[in-house]
Amino acid sequence: MQPIKRVVIAGGGTAGWMAAAAMAKLLGKNLDITLIESDDIGTVGVGEATIPTLVFFHKLLGISERDFMAATHGTYKLGIQFENWRDVGEDYLHAFGVTGKDCWAAGFQHFWLKGREMGISKPFGDYCLEHQAAVSSRFAHLPNNGLNYAFHMDAGLYAGFLRKIAEQHGCQRVEGKIAQVNTRSSDGFIDHLVLDNGQRIDGDLFIDCTGFRGLLIEQALHTGYEDWSHWLLNDSALALQTTAVEPPRAYTRSIAHDAGWQWRIPLQHRVGNGLVYSHHYLDDDAARQRLLDNVEGEHLTEPRLIRFKTGRRRKQWNKNCVALGLASGFLEPLESTSIHLIQQGIVRLLRMFPTQGICPADVLEYNRQTDFDVEHIRDFIILHYVVTNRHDSPYWQHCRNLDMPESLAHRIELFRETGRVFREGSELFDDSWQQVMIGQGLIPERYHPIVDTMSEQELRQFLGHIETNVANTVAGLPAHQQYLQQFVGKL
Ligand code: FAD
Repeated sequence: MQPIKRVVIAGGGTAGWMAAAAMAKLLGKNLDITLIESDDIGTVGVGEATIPTLVFFHKLLGISERDFMAATHGTYKLGIQFENWRDVGEDYLHAFGVTGKDCWAAGFQHFWLKGREMGISKPFGDYCLEHQAAVSSRFAHLPNNGLNYAFHMDAGLYAGFLRKIAEQHGCQRVEGKIAQVNTRSSDGFIDHLVLDNGQRIDGDLFIDCTGFRGLLIEQALHTGYEDWSHWLLNDSALALQTTAVEPPRAYTRSIAHDAGWQWRIPLQHRVGNGLVYSHHYLDDDAARQRLLDNVEGEHLTEPRLIRFKTGRRRKQWNKNCVALGLASGFLEPLESTSIHLIQQGIVRLLRMFPTQGICPADVLEYNRQTDFDVEHIRDFIILHYVVTNRHDSPYWQHCRNLDMPESLAHRIELFRETGRVFREGSELFDDSWQQVMIGQGLIPERYHPIVDTMSEQELRQFLGHIETNVANTVAGLPAHQQYLQQFVGKL
């Protein structure tokens, strides 16, 4: 085994600079870290909505949230509003955080379901603090992570912000285009890269962050790709930036159309918009027009087309190459999970860092854990398409009749019949499953019998108490924009 001293990160988008900042900050004293990026090629330029795990990544790196928010023109995010997903004209919000209370014997949804039967339950979201704060656009940091939050941020500015951290901790940046990836004939490991100006860059471990092209993991190592487009039909996106016409909401909007969906991500200085669609159901010109007809504010950019294939690389770690970000695979950004997966990959690699050399057991374990994460997120995303009342277009008819993964079919059936949801191992989503299943219109047939041990009066009090607590806490929060102005100091 060859000790790992030189790490080469190919690509300087969000994935590359997140990896560089974390590795330089945490392992930089023992490693030579080089990042190569090409100004000519640029980055994908999207990826501006996150989930709460990023807060912990920033803590790990010692990042000041105020500095981060100021540098990336960030806003706070408490969830995602799904508009027209359950049916045209119907909305719900998937919020970060727990709905109701952690009830030891049965989930809160069982109590809510009985209350619903009795006609005393309010909408499910009324029992969730983050939900209510989001819909009233209020925000503050509460003690003990009392309010779960994430960020909206400018992706280009975020890469620049991380670059500073990486360079401060010794990461060396090389600008140039990688023209060749040379492998060793003995074991097929990557030996060095050659830039188009002839510069040679040697390394022991290579991190492929070159985006969809997967220059190292695929073009050089031929790792293979597992295509999931039979489950997730969308293959295209158009992205467009506009000026803001209202104060930033504390949530992302996801608006379903008849052949895809549209995102709206509010930043301090502008709004990120995009349409994700299947070009088999909506041609590119029609998609472009659809997006233009459905944005507000002045256009700051032209609509930019991005094609993708949903799926994952057969191995995320192959030989001496680890793929992160778009090079490792892609799930559409419906639940803003890509940056989370980058972060997971980085933290996993740091935990298993092969200082003494790469051993097959580490590689196997890394890939096993990554597969687990991605498959659960994949199922959660598919859920939004298969549980819906929409059948108003060929696209939605196709989605409703998908032959979904067995793991998802089981979860849906279990919830439909019994109201039960079990979090599997360390999977990312927990309360989210109930929120989205109920939000998409799936109401279980039964509730857990333990709920019947409460009298009607007790149940009323139990539900009423949670709802009042949530409402009182939200009433005490400042408006999101006002809080941003105070916290970041300028808007
Ligand atoms: P890129 O940004 O494409 O970076 C690739 C880098 O490699 C660039 O620096 C490029 O110059 C370099 N490079 C490539 N080839 C060479 C070469 N030959 N030589 C030198 N350098 C090279 N994620 C979220 O979490 N939330 C979201 O809301 C979200 N929205 C998205 C919307 C869309 C439409 C898409 C497509 C993705 C979205 N994502 C989202 C995913 C997110 O954008 C990516 O995970 C993230 O930006 C990471 O991208 P990357 O760094 O892997 O690739």
